[in-house]
Amino acid sequence: MTGPGPRRVYADHAATSPLRPAAAEAQRRTENLLNPAGQYASGREARRVLEESREEIAALLGADPVEVVFTASGTEADGIALQGLAFASRRRRGARTVVAPETEHPAVGETVAWLTGDVLGFDHAVLPVDADGRPAVPDAADLDPARDAVVTAMWANNETGAVTDVAGITAACARADVPVHVDAVQAVGHLPVDFHRLGATTLAASAHKFGGPRSAGILLVRRDAVLDSPLRGGGQERGLRPGTVDVRAAAGTAAALAAACRDMEAEAARVGALRDRVLACVRGIDGARVWTTEPALPGHAHMSFPGAEGDSLIMLLDAAGIDAATGSACSAGVNRASHVLTAMGVPVEVARGALRLTLGHTTTEEDVARIVEVLPGVVERARAAGMAY
Ligand code: PLP
Repeated sequence: MTGPGPRRVYADHAATSPLRPAAAEAQRRTENLLNPAGQYASGREARRVLEESREEIAALLGADPVEVVFTASGTEADGIALQGLAFASRRRRGARTVVAPETEHPAVGETVAWLTGDVLGFDHAVLPVDADGRPAVPDAADLDPARDAVVTAMWANNETGAVTDVAGITAACARADVPVHVDAVQAVGHLPVDFHRLGATTLAASAHKFGGPRSAGILLVRRDAVLDSPLRGGGQERGLRPGTVDVRAAAGTAAALAAACRDMEAEAARVGALRDRVLACVRGIDGARVWTTEPALPGHAHMSFPGAEGDSLIMLLDAAGIDAATGSACSAGVNRASHVLTAMGVPVEVARGALRLTLGHTTTEEDVARIVEVLPGVVERARAAGMAY
């Protein structure tokens, strides 16, 4: 071990956020709990904690406890909801179209691709997005329950932070009587969520995005929703997500969500002001393009520096002690242009110079001072290195 170097700056909260102390404490208290389905004392104790966690999450998200389904990730929650709604709509009404924008996270995008591929044979109707990447609110008259199996839209975009008019989308779907899934993985814990008022059929969240444990998801499923889950097993979690439930993860999720919701307003103001300092610095850099437009999540700053490669930017920031991301999924080290930016009409060479800095509950003034100090030089050096063709 070498001595303490300069403190690193973590600016990738949208990827995963450090565990909140309250969640760590809740997990420590519950780490020895056993099977909540067990019909003996240790089972009853595990079940009590599980149901208390469920009740707390339900109250924080405006749902009934029975509507809270624990899953192993946000990805799993999205997969169960989308497939479950699509399969049930096809079985019950013969509907076989999945209505989805092209800007979704792969948890949804790849599930839509799977549903609409050769094996499952659904059709894909693209919900258009505007120049800022926000999915359009469909006209209820254009939706048809005999044709449209499910509509899906994300509440907030993981790359740009753009907040969608999800209430408009769910209202149109309710009028048309078409089930609607909301991927709220980036929104829960950061924006107020009232599941009943929103009127979505299902809603996905992920604990590690709001300071809870990783690999712990929440799926809210309306009481009257009909889903044919793609999973089969022992019937836990309304049969939608069978498998022994991780009580420790549920307790950590509830504690993190309670802390995130309690601090939400103050944190949004604090983190938003820090993010605005980052954006002011970005706007001072020649040729910079800022993709984060209001309304947006308070911690998101997404941008491009034409002439620089996104990978160079994050490598140079890493060397300067700053953890950042391009925002888009990389495959085998190949920097692909973000599908979100290309769907927004951004040219590929500009999209490839993308950088996402996302701030959160651990971000300090010093962190932002360091980002602002380092970023202009990093962009200059990345541009000098040029684009890899
Ligand atoms: N949906 C969105 C919008 C996300 O940002 C993410 C994670 O980045 C997911 C789904 C997947 O969540 P998880 O990492 O819990 O599987």
